[in-house]
Amino acid sequence: EAKKAGRDTFRFFDQKMSREARDKLQLEQALRTAIRSGGLSLNFQPKVDLSNGQVFGAEALLRWTHPEMGPISPSVFIPLAEDSGLIVDIGSWVMHKTCETLVAWRKAGLALPRIAVNISVQQLEQDDFAGWLEELLASYQLDLQLLELEITETGLMKNEKRALLSLARLQAKGFRIALDDFGTGYSSLSYLRKLPLSTLKIDRSFIQDMSLDRVSLSIVNTIIQLAKDLSLDLVAEGVEDFGQAEQLMKLGCQHAQGFHFYRPMAEDKFTQLLAASNS
Ligand code: C2E
Ligand code: MG
Ligand code: MG
Ligand code: MG
Repeated sequence: EAKKAGRDTFRFFDQKMSREARDKLQLEQALRTAIRSGGLSLNFQPKVDLSNGQVFGAEALLRWTHPEMGPISPSVFIPLAEDSGLIVDIGSWVMHKTCETLVAWRKAGLALPRIAVNISVQQLEQDDFAGWLEELLASYQLDLQLLELEITETGLMKNEKRALLSLARLQAKGFRIALDDFGTGYSSLSYLRKLPLSTLKIDRSFIQDMSLDRVSLSIVNTIIQLAKDLSLDLVAEGVEDFGQAEQLMKLGCQHAQGFHFYRPMAEDKFTQLLAASNS
């Protein structure tokens, strides 16, 4: 009896697993299609100067609308894209789209903001990623300083050597590199020695807890000092209220990003914002 129950449990488990595997495969297929059929788009979340609220740049954030299921969260489809290797094609789409958007803004006579793009380690590991990216920007006649590449250390830890080499090449060409979600990985501090960085982004978990717990506040303060000492640009992520913004400014943080200032917005909305701050 017990044996039979056990077998049934396994059978049920098998069915459940295969349904999950099948759903995942279908979603992956839909994502593959989306790359070519206009299902992807970019949102832009402004980054502001804390001292005067001026927008100095934005982060490009990928959005996917499934034809039946509607919007799918990046926290669902980015890991899926990483697992299946689709992230390389998707990353290339994001780069082309970012360049096209910058060119459209240039044609409209707008002062170009710096755009940060999230990069997967799998992209870094492509043969001559730095050369590919340099040629891409040249083909659009865009200054490569307009771009900032956001990477996370959790990604880097997987195949460190190759990724670090690729980052060194990017830096040698003059690309800006930001360490995203800083403070959440296992070896944050040692990465500061290995990585050719221009920017640190303090993870939003510290910002959120800053007013509640002294340890988070102390971590934020320490990262701000660290960035100063190392002459790195610093962006606080996930600033959601006035108190946090004020506190960060008092501590000497220069740049911020978060719902308190702006949510990620569609391209046309961000274009309007640029036009308003240009005039
Ligand atoms: P991330 O790079 O750390 O991006 C910041 C995330 O925090 C975004 O989520 C943004 O909408 C959200 N956020 C911004 N301000 C606030 C705030 O004040 N409060 C809260 N609670 N959240 C805030 P999103 O757009 O869902 O993206 C999630 C992650 O997906 C990104 O985290 C990034 O790791 C990844 N991702 C997004 N676009 C791309 C892409 O084009 N390529 C790759 N490889 N990854 C991407
Ligand atoms: Mg990011
Ligand atoms: Mg982040
Ligand atoms: Mg993140």
